[in-house]
Amino acid sequence: RRAAFYSDNPVGGFPADPSALSTMSDPPPPWSDSKVQSEFRLDYQPIVSLVDGKISAFEALVRWLHPQRGMISPVEFIPLAEETGLITSLGWWILREACCQLRAWQESFPQAIPVTMVVNLSAIQLMQLRVKEQIQLILHETGVDSRYLKLEITESGLMENVDATIELLEQLKALGIQLSIDDFGTGYSSLGRLHYLPVDTLKIDQSFIRRTTFEEESWEIVQTIITLAHNLNMTVVAEGVETPEQLARLKYLGCDYGQGYLFAKPLSSANATTLLMTNPQW
Ligand code: C2E
Ligand code: MG
Ligand code: MG
Ligand code: MG
Repeated sequence: RRAAFYSDNPVGGFPADPSALSTMSDPPPPWSDSKVQSEFRLDYQPIVSLVDGKISAFEALVRWLHPQRGMISPVEFIPLAEETGLITSLGWWILREACCQLRAWQESFPQAIPVTMVVNLSAIQLMQLRVKEQIQLILHETGVDSRYLKLEITESGLMENVDATIELLEQLKALGIQLSIDDFGTGYSSLGRLHYLPVDTLKIDQSFIRRTTFEEESWEIVQTIITLAHNLNMTVVAEGVETPEQLARLKYLGCDYGQGYLFAKPLSSANATTLLMTNPQW
């Protein structure tokens, strides 16, 4: 299946060094700006406050609409982009696009309570040189206030390289950016180190929430993560909320935010804009 990804690449394989992209000319390489702009787009899924039922944030989720193969899931192509190093150029495009969308919303709805834009960052992206400068540049160019940007890093990605990452995270926090640990509970965190991480939010992996439907004991895990987050002065988001029963229980357990199909699936920019306009309350 890997070969299928390479087959339409005119240069015969993803270049390992993304800077090589700039030296290639006609026909365009797979992750050139024009390709990214024509085949990739972002969907936006709301994150809802379980206290007042209002939209608190949107998470940007990348989609690849391949001209021949149709929609390809990020679960398939993000690992490939990470292996080849191309996550760097794709990842900065994603951040810029999400910030542009946030700015557009802020301009269209100046009276609304400001929402936060949540953007997933790959651990590979964090290992690049001048990450902080790149993020600062994108914030500056798009006119987004750092307070309304939240970067999400998976627990496994974070823990792989915790000492190197911690300093960078401190720098990002100093800029005013919010930080969140994604897929929490699946990545074997060193619990002893969790409180050193300058992180605002833990996001409970959706597998735990899903399991609660057929395994009552899974609520114990969810409850423990909620308590852990609060003891560390972090907020907590439940991912993959699909049923009213799950929502009721999460509220009862004091979970701060929820995200999932019960509220909304990831939406196109236009549909997310419509949703914002209706100012829903769940
Ligand atoms: P994630 O960041 O944990 O995103 C949550 C995933 O769960 C999304 O899948 C979302 O559509 C899905 N989801 C949300 N609510 C529900 C629900 O109620 N039920 C079910 N069954 N699923 C739900 P998606 O969009 O396919 O993304 C999958 C993963 O791909 C993401 O997991 C993230 O790790 C990665 N990804 C997506 N976009 C980006 C990106 O822009 N950059 C990076 N580095 N990774 C991304
Ligand atoms: Mg995420
Ligand atoms: Mg997640
Ligand atoms: Mg996930």
